[in-house]
Amino acid sequence: MVSRVIPVDTFDLVIFGGTGDLARRKILPGLYRRFLGGQMPQDSRIIAAARSDMSDDEFRAQVRAAIEEFVAADKRDAAVIDEFVARISYVAIDATGENGWAQLKDTMRDGVIRAFYFSVAPSLFGAIAERLSDHGIADPQSRIVVEKPFGRDLASAKALNAVLAQHFAEEQIYRIDHYLGKETVQNLMAVRFANILFEPLWKAQYIDHVQITVAETVGVDGRGAYYDTSGAMRDMVQNHLMQLLCLIAMEPPYHFDPNAVRDEKLKVIRALDPVAPEDIVRGQYLKGGDQDGYVAHSGNPHSRTESYIALKVHISNWRWKGTPFYLRTGKRLRARASEIAITFKEPPHSIFDDAEGWRENVLVIRLQPNEGMNLMVMIKEPGPGGMRLTQVPLDMSFAEALGEEGEDIPDAYERLIMDVIRGNQTLFMRGDEVEAAWAWADPIIEGWERRGDRPRGYEPGTSGPEDALMLLHRDGRRWREIRE
Ligand code: NAP
Repeated sequence: MVSRVIPVDTFDLVIFGGTGDLARRKILPGLYRRFLGGQMPQDSRIIAAARSDMSDDEFRAQVRAAIEEFVAADKRDAAVIDEFVARISYVAIDATGENGWAQLKDTMRDGVIRAFYFSVAPSLFGAIAERLSDHGIADPQSRIVVEKPFGRDLASAKALNAVLAQHFAEEQIYRIDHYLGKETVQNLMAVRFANILFEPLWKAQYIDHVQITVAETVGVDGRGAYYDTSGAMRDMVQNHLMQLLCLIAMEPPYHFDPNAVRDEKLKVIRALDPVAPEDIVRGQYLKGGDQDGYVAHSGNPHSRTESYIALKVHISNWRWKGTPFYLRTGKRLRARASEIAITFKEPPHSIFDDAEGWRENVLVIRLQPNEGMNLMVMIKEPGPGGMRLTQVPLDMSFAEALGEEGEDIPDAYERLIMDVIRGNQTLFMRGDEVEAAWAWADPIIEGWERRGDRPRGYEPGTSGPEDALMLLHRDGRRWREIRE
């Protein structure tokens, strides 16, 4: 298969927070890979901004170190790295002060796309937007990219939207949810809307239930104090799992167009029912071996913040009424694995005697590791033993199916940054979508805060609290095993 890399237009990309963790681990290595892949035009430039005083060369040395650490050895080409860092400069700017802005303005070129990545704490978004506009650095074609978290409730998300809207039109604002940049997530739309195969069955009549799992093995150590003000519902469900749910549940958009797609996702969020307390299980990982538990990591002995959550969610519309969506996400679980599993219903009548061998059809969409899809189907067990049934996977690993190209799947951040330059907002959340998701999440969070619910402890390295098993058991269902 021939790789089709279409270069984007020439750009000047300013990364506020260019010395931070996200820039070092994801943004700069990702840009290097796009440069290596021929997608970033030679005459494009990257300008990093942060408060520390530093020369261009000092910053370039940091970028080289980041590439060394976060880019695979077979992609590190000394000559290409030299060319790449030559396109990078650094300017010292305090987002809340006045120094550095004039220098930034002088650095920007006319006639190229201007993009500004706000890779800083959300409390600085407003200050940066205001100064970009007051200093005349942003033009009407400029784009801004804002990181998560986008608010911690509906009120703060509205305030953030309002402050950005004072200086930028919605068409200029790119709210990142890196889950939407994952290859498999986009493939979900291709599979649904470029094939006739699944869509006729894609409804409550044929789908028994949907499971969405995002399991991590890491704890919150290192960022426990921040995490304790957030928790799994705010950090993962309101944004990432919600976006996955939307892509599974939405109606076909009339066109693969940013607003058409986002209109359909918004309708799903608005159709979500409130979640009953008995349909929520929250957990906190316990101390295990010589590893501290959540409470020690958070530094808050009385913490009631969840590091795990499982929810049963209903969508009240014609397509989904009666088909539950079970969502779960947590830290320090058995394996690092993210997947969507769509379990179909039984055929209306079995003509086979071998009922025991029968299992449901399940379409599994793996987000990590090893992105791909798996369709579990029934076949005849091979051999002369009569008509006995067995289940086999129709397995499609993208890396295997697409050969070398599949191995070179761009990281979510790379893809999303290129989409910003292309001016394509399809994979970015619109302001009303984020607000609708908070409008759904807020009463759930307020409910457990009002009741004073405590999360259940769970052993690290397991699937989470025992109670989460009951969430499905009582419906006659089971969670899929969490495994890599
Ligand atoms: P970080 O490591 O703390 O970096 C923050 C950056 O902002 C540094 O470059 C810092 O440099 C700069 N900065 C701080 N105050 C500033 C100011 N007043 N003016 C100008 N620059 C300032 O944070 P991070 O982990 O990279 O996160 C950045 C954003 O991405 C946050 O919104 C975070 O929630 C989001 N995010 C991060 C990750 C991740 O994996 N790290 C994942 C998802 C989302 P100076 O101190 O030199 O100014």
